[in-house]
Amino acid sequence: MQAQTPCYKQINNIILVASGKGGVGKSTTAVNLALALSQPSGENPGAKVGLLDADVYGPSLPLMMGMQGQRPTSLDGKVMEPLSKYGIKVNSIGFLINPEDAAVWRGPMASSALSQLIGETNWGELDYLIVDMPPGTGDIQLTISQKFPCTGAVVVTTPQNIALADAEKGVAMFGKVNIPVLGIVENMSHFQCSKCGSVEHIFGKDGAVAMAKDHGTELLGQIPLQQINRENSDNGTPTVTTDGPMADIYRDIAKKLIEQLVLTQQNNAASSGPEISFIDD
Ligand code: ADP
Repeated sequence: MQAQTPCYKQINNIILVASGKGGVGKSTTAVNLALALSQPSGENPGAKVGLLDADVYGPSLPLMMGMQGQRPTSLDGKVMEPLSKYGIKVNSIGFLINPEDAAVWRGPMASSALSQLIGETNWGELDYLIVDMPPGTGDIQLTISQKFPCTGAVVVTTPQNIALADAEKGVAMFGKVNIPVLGIVENMSHFQCSKCGSVEHIFGKDGAVAMAKDHGTELLGQIPLQQINRENSDNGTPTVTTDGPMADIYRDIAKKLIEQLVLTQQNNAASSGPEISFIDD
């Protein structure tokens, strides 16, 4: 019998979006990043993108993408067909189970469910699969990082010390499993009053700037705390599907991410040593 090719074999880049702790805006970033990568800009036709919500303990993709109540189908009873919205392919643990049931899952059960979601969804050919990881650095995160050919990780944090300390653990974990950290996103960087315009650094100032510098990693961007961002997520119309300065910040982060990806690939090629070629003269 011919062995079946795993569904992720046609994915060029699996990118993990992670955070040390919950509530820092990891899912919001993952959703907007996936959509930004898929959008055409200038000469760039836009990439083929998949988005997997692997946040078993708090799947938010169905709400943020306006897809509640939908469910992936299967043509052969084995492999799931991903759903599609705003031009990207999506799957979420939230489409398949009641989130309250997942909340009591032990680590191995959650790891196995996530492995199925990545490996048994018919993603087809993708330039990028963005994986919204569960928060933290435990067994589930390690299993996913080691089991799949992950290209790199993006770590999301707020500038607050308590979030940064956990984000550092995330960076260390990816180091241990040899997944390059492509950059850090600082979310909720500051708040600007819509009435008087004054800027307040509610969670501290530039914490991720210092962290990126310490780890020799790129700061991909700083996203302000904005009511419209929260409203867009709650309404199922992610900020990047609209126009405005907030959408541009996410697009800029996506651009920087691609730059880091290219740099990492070039460094890997250079460190794998020179190739010997034979030239007839
Ligand atoms: P996580 O995935 O880290 O748990 P979420 O992306 O679910 O975090 O975000 C937590 C909450 O904060 C959500 O209600 C989301 O809409 C809101 N949020 C995230 N980023 C921002 C932001 N930059 N401005 C305003 N609200 C935000």
